[in-house]
Amino acid sequence: MKNLNLFFAFILVSGSVFSQEWVPVLTEQWEPVPKIITPGNGSAPPSDAIVLFDGSSMDQWENPDGGPAGWEVKDGIITVVKGNGEIQTKKGFGDVQLHIEWRTPAEVVGEGQGRGNSGVFLQQRYEVQVLDNYENITYPNGQAGSVYKQHIPLVNACLPPGEWQTYDIIYTAPRFNENGTLFSPAKLTVLHNGVLIQNHISIKGPSEYIGQPPYEAHDIKQSLMLQEHSNPVSYRNIWLREL
Ligand code: MG
Repeated sequence: MKNLNLFFAFILVSGSVFSQEWVPVLTEQWEPVPKIITPGNGSAPPSDAIVLFDGSSMDQWENPDGGPAGWEVKDGIITVVKGNGEIQTKKGFGDVQLHIEWRTPAEVVGEGQGRGNSGVFLQQRYEVQVLDNYENITYPNGQAGSVYKQHIPLVNACLPPGEWQTYDIIYTAPRFNENGTLFSPAKLTVLHNGVLIQNHISIKGPSEYIGQPPYEAHDIKQSLMLQEHSNPVSYRNIWLREL
């Protein structure tokens, strides 16, 4: 035993003679051990996900003014009701992996930004655009999958109107210094129907229709908000994992 210890001590102090290629155990890391979860299966979320809408209840959502969420819940989906405003989660979130499914109306009404417009607002501020851009032209930094007025999606992966589509979003919240200045911008990756359309981009600030406002410091936990833009866009199967 003593000889064995001496042998390992010799190995450790003689890295120049015995390179790590010769002693693979030196580069094995055994901690931390990843937590075991059950991955999702089809539309079922992973076992460690927070389910925000499973088709039955809007208990986790509210109107931004604090009242009840004013969208229609029917047949396992939620649909924008014109004039009833945005909906947002009661709970706040920071860094997340988000899965959300959306559908623009099968009956095409309007054009450009007026056709199946809604939006996924991370932390109530940073919009990943939801829009029917299947054979519908608009400014690319405002089309489906854009970070509105900031980042054009890498490709247009839209399905026809009336079909369900998915966004899988990996989001890192911005961080702020004690004095309120920006420490690090929000980072975003988006897969649209399984296709990478935003690749770890830096969000420049809150999404606005006009202008490009700078960041304003906010707490790390903020609601996920879905936009009411008059058009009856539907959502289902919304879940996230806190990172
Ligand atoms: Mg929108």
